[in-house]
Amino acid sequence: MNSHNPTPLPARLRDIAYAEDMTETAGNTPLVRLRVLPREWGIKATILVKPEFLNPTGSVKDRMAIYLLRQAERKGELSPGGTIVEATSGNTGAAVAMFAAAHGYRAILTIPDKMSAEKINALRAFGAQVHVCPTAVAPEDPRSYYETAKRIARETPHSYFVGQYFNTDNIEAHYRTTGPEIWRQTKGKIDVLVGGIGTGGTVSGTARYLKEQNPKVAVIAADPEGSVFYHYFKTGALPEAHPYLVEGIGDDFLCPTLDLTVIDDICQVSDRDCFLMARDLTRKEGICGGGSSGGIVLAALRYAQEADLAEDKLLVAILPDHGNKYISKIFNDEWMREKGFIE
Ligand code: PMP
Repeated sequence: MNSHNPTPLPARLRDIAYAEDMTETAGNTPLVRLRVLPREWGIKATILVKPEFLNPTGSVKDRMAIYLLRQAERKGELSPGGTIVEATSGNTGAAVAMFAAAHGYRAILTIPDKMSAEKINALRAFGAQVHVCPTAVAPEDPRSYYETAKRIARETPHSYFVGQYFNTDNIEAHYRTTGPEIWRQTKGKIDVLVGGIGTGGTVSGTARYLKEQNPKVAVIAADPEGSVFYHYFKTGALPEAHPYLVEGIGDDFLCPTLDLTVIDDICQVSDRDCFLMARDLTRKEGICGGGSSGGIVLAALRYAQEADLAEDKLLVAILPDHGNKYISKIFNDEWMREKGFIE
């Protein structure tokens, strides 16, 4: 670190409780009970959600980005004067941009143009340089946000490319933090884990840890219509992807940060499902998650209902990000009407 290198606090203040910078505040999110939706669905089991939107930049991706960047600092791959480069659907970018601001690095981020204005502007708010790239091109197209980030990293001296889609430490971050937290918080009583797949890091790492503790833990992932994971999981064949609106989950290719061997089933959800459930979750439970949170809660409710989970069973659903990131979309009636999701 450089000018952001911490100087010790005066002796009198050393025993006070504080974080040296915002990046230290990630993780240790609570578990919160759903009280209304399970009752409406006739579900007897307990459903707890883990609102990862309580992380410092409002998403689960703070854990992974901070883990990878700290490791890069330790290995000397990221050092004073360095530039962090990443391809992001917005949440990893916010985490990277926060880390860069707090530790004195430059950040250059690429993001597809379908992502919300709130997410794109948040990156700039932290001082990052942002390249908005077309969504509707193949991942290997030089204009795609993946390829653009790779090119920028190649062309920028003293840069560190995070690479959340191929760096398997993405899984490790959740294996070391999210998994043990849930195990500890539930006193090992978790029966079912539900999450979403973007890179796959969250579900893969968390599930791997939980299944090592108890192989009977069932793991269910929500996948949006248009993404390839559901079809691949069911048939072994990779279908053609088609565009969809929900942000951060689903993809058009398989990446090494997704470990399908720890996933027991995939539940397909539509854009409409995700958005309407995100609104319901906010109004009925007071839990304001984004569209992927809506899809994940719907997958959790469907699973608990179809499996007729007994009263003493415990399901935990990971909510990836905050609804505040989608005020102009999911929580904007005009946008919802325009897209045909509400009357
Ligand atoms: N939901 C949202 C809103 C996200 O941004 C992401 C990350 N792309 C996910 C879910 C999925 O997380 P992961 O990449 O760990 O699979």
